[in-house]
Amino acid sequence: MLKIQNDPTAGHDSGTPPASIYGMALEQFQAAADRLGIDEGIRRVLSTPKRELTVAIPVRMDDGEVRVFRGYRVQHNLSRGPGKGGIRYHPDVTLDEVKALAMWMTWKCAITGIPYGGAKGGVACDPRGMSEAELERMTRRYATEISILIGPDRDIPAPDMNTDGRIMAWIMDTISMHGGFTVPGIVTGKPVSIGGSLGRVDATGRGVMIAVREAAARLGMDLRGARMVVQGYGNVGSTAARLLAQEGCVLIAAADSLGSSYYEGGIDPNDLGAHERSTGTVGGYPGSEPVSPRELMSLPCDILIPAALEAQIRGDNAAGVRARVVVEGANGPTTPEADRILEDKGVMVVPDILANAGGVVVSYFEWVQDIQRYFWDIGEINQKMDRIIADSFAEIFAISQREKVDLREAAMLLAVSRLEEAIKVRGLYP
Ligand code: GLU
Repeated sequence: MLKIQNDPTAGHDSGTPPASIYGMALEQFQAAADRLGIDEGIRRVLSTPKRELTVAIPVRMDDGEVRVFRGYRVQHNLSRGPGKGGIRYHPDVTLDEVKALAMWMTWKCAITGIPYGGAKGGVACDPRGMSEAELERMTRRYATEISILIGPDRDIPAPDMNTDGRIMAWIMDTISMHGGFTVPGIVTGKPVSIGGSLGRVDATGRGVMIAVREAAARLGMDLRGARMVVQGYGNVGSTAARLLAQEGCVLIAAADSLGSSYYEGGIDPNDLGAHERSTGTVGGYPGSEPVSPRELMSLPCDILIPAALEAQIRGDNAAGVRARVVVEGANGPTTPEADRILEDKGVMVVPDILANAGGVVVSYFEWVQDIQRYFWDIGEINQKMDRIIADSFAEIFAISQREKVDLREAAMLLAVSRLEEAIKVRGLYP
């Protein structure tokens, strides 16, 4: 088959991202707080992260030079339980972004009814340019620096963009070495051999698949033959594409930061995954054509899954979206301005805090299994997660119908009211 050279500009942003991602998260919160008419004091509490830790991470690189990386751990709110949220390694990580991601974790745990507060961490680094040994040293020093905040009863990290089971194992080992005993519940998303849960690797993508299934049922859309476009082909995007293909959906285009592939006849998600592993990008898949980021977002399709960074669907490209449903695999991929445009166009948006919650739900199962030292089979894990996502979807859908708001605002109404309740019932200390 013909191998088409990819567009080198594909995958780059096509407009200006918002000045502050935290500002975007705050705007979503304020809309829900206004509608609920919540107490001004509680509004102030929820607008301000409880703890923001910035650390310097000195690392000896393989060439002997010492570099200092910036790392963060933010706990947005702990009223409903210990902090929970992933750790991201990316060159663009900032405190502003980590604060937004931590706030979204608070809402995500609240709407799924799991007993956690919201937290997030990140290190500004380019993991692609680092050796395995450098990554390990950086991870162990970062874990040490944030050890003043984390713990199985305090704050439990997990994988996020560019972090995985291997990195979680280093964090678990580092904290365990400090204590002199093994602490499996310190992180989730660990390898199964050291107390990880079956099903955790696929959990976020599986949750996206369930969210698509629930949305399709409400839209009267048949999944068989439904055309999907996936932006970002990491763990979440690739797993969602693979599981949705099993339901009969057809992947017509995918993109990552280095390239894109579009083929109307349908791309096998597994073959595309193998192509990505061998070439480092989904671009240049045999028989496909490249598309620009703007074209990708405006391809006629049924399901659009943004599964990359924040603020990808914005005021400047939202009007071009021709999907019936946008299901947010990423955190914060749609700006508030784009939300309004999509709502006017009648495009359903399944918000991140619902659509990608499968990951943290199975993280919760992992933590419960670690604490109980008793492990469940994969059938039980997948079935329990499916039920939580489907029930949360139903609850949020009912709120959106009753209050005549979109699904994001409905999800936020549920989340913020649960936080308001928890804060009120605990009372203000002292
Ligand atoms: N990083 C994932 C998220 O954004 C998972 C967090 C977790 O499992 O704690 O939801």
